[in-house]
Amino acid sequence: MSDLTERAKKAAEISAHPRHYKVCEGCESIVVARANTCPNCHGYRFDEDTKRVVDQATLLGSRPQSSVKPEDLAS
Ligand SMILES: [Zn+2]
Repeated sequence: MSDLTERAKKAAEISAHPRHYKVCEGCESIVVARANTCPNCHGYRFDEDTKRVVDQATLLGSRPQSSVKPEDLAS
């Protein structure tokens, strides 16, 4: 399964249950609602608005990963 398909699946799951997630104000990643700090940037400010979560999930699911991952470097 491609990375993009995996992300699209995750995005669909988030969109189906937006109340279980929130958007980090620091790096705009989606984290689980029960997280106290962002696992990516360690920020503690979040937008829990469900519409914002769905919008962000759609955005993340539709674009390819921009950052270079370790497995990319190995090949
Ligand atoms: Zn963050």
